[in-house]
Amino acid sequence: MLEVIAAEEHRLHDPQFFLVRGQIRPSAEQPERARILERAVRDLGLSVRVPNDWGLGPIASVHSPEYLDFLQHAWAQWQSLPGAGAEVIPNIHPQRRPASYPRSIVGRAGWHQADTACPMGPGTWRGVLAAAQVALEAAHSLASGAYQRSYALCRPPGHHAFSDMAGGFCFLNNTAIATEQLLKLFPRAAILDVDVHHGNGTQSIFYRRSDVFTVSVHADPHDFYPFFWGHAQERGEDAGEGFNFNIPLPLGTDDSPWLAAIDRALDRIALYAPDVLVVALGLDAARSDPLQGMRISPEGFAALGERLRGWQKPLLLVQEGGYLGPELASNLKAFLSALGD
Ligand SMILES: [Zn+2]
Repeated sequence: MLEVIAAEEHRLHDPQFFLVRGQIRPSAEQPERARILERAVRDLGLSVRVPNDWGLGPIASVHSPEYLDFLQHAWAQWQSLPGAGAEVIPNIHPQRRPASYPRSIVGRAGWHQADTACPMGPGTWRGVLAAAQVALEAAHSLASGAYQRSYALCRPPGHHAFSDMAGGFCFLNNTAIATEQLLKLFPRAAILDVDVHHGNGTQSIFYRRSDVFTVSVHADPHDFYPFFWGHAQERGEDAGEGFNFNIPLPLGTDDSPWLAAIDRALDRIALYAPDVLVVALGLDAARSDPLQGMRISPEGFAALGERLRGWQKPLLLVQEGGYLGPELASNLKAFLSALGD
């Protein structure tokens, strides 16, 4: 039985600014995304539940105290600057560290925001906190045994968020936060990230660990965000060496090679023999997605669902990307219908 968790508070985060190829554009990460996805699951007859408040503790097991302090207070501090704009947007970065942690909110924005895709408005903290609570609620459902499958309808997404840095529309790493919580009950977890972008934040958080096997199938970062991570040679370090597996695919990849890559990923996950599987469910590999990284059809997403249908252990789905296009709802419906309950 699949349950769905979602929270209305995501709407409080309503980013406006987005910079692409030197041009200012509206952000693709709009509240409307979650509304469409929630309506899709209701159309399937699934009920949607709101999360309990699990507090900051489980979030702080993934994210640093100074980063959480920044997320909570940055907007108010930014507003106290003379001539401040409506959103916190960095304009200077420490680049390759080491460097010293800055006191100024302008410096802290550059320290904690990898790029300009994470503008912060007055409701951003409450919105991203609600998304993390959605992920935590879904994890608790699996851990309690109440459900074998749970779908955390998180918005904004999280897989580009590092332990101390936002990026690519992501602030709190919902997938990592939920996985960390699952590890309290399940000794070994695997994460399969099918978002069109490499899950660089998730990879980084678990890069030196062997209790989480991180696998990502994504558009080749030689040509696509996040550029600096997601290459095949990134295999993990120290105790985590061999526990990170990246499968970059050419831009424009369609169903057949994408599914072949997912089969390779699932074969490796089977060898790891996890106690729980977390799927970072980006839908932005879709052919109709405005980001145009790949060309996956609704039938392709259905085939992904079929591959996961036989998974016998607990399964957590965490919503990542997937932007406003004509097939956003159909892709989720195709996937969930094929997955079955
Ligand atoms: Zn994405």
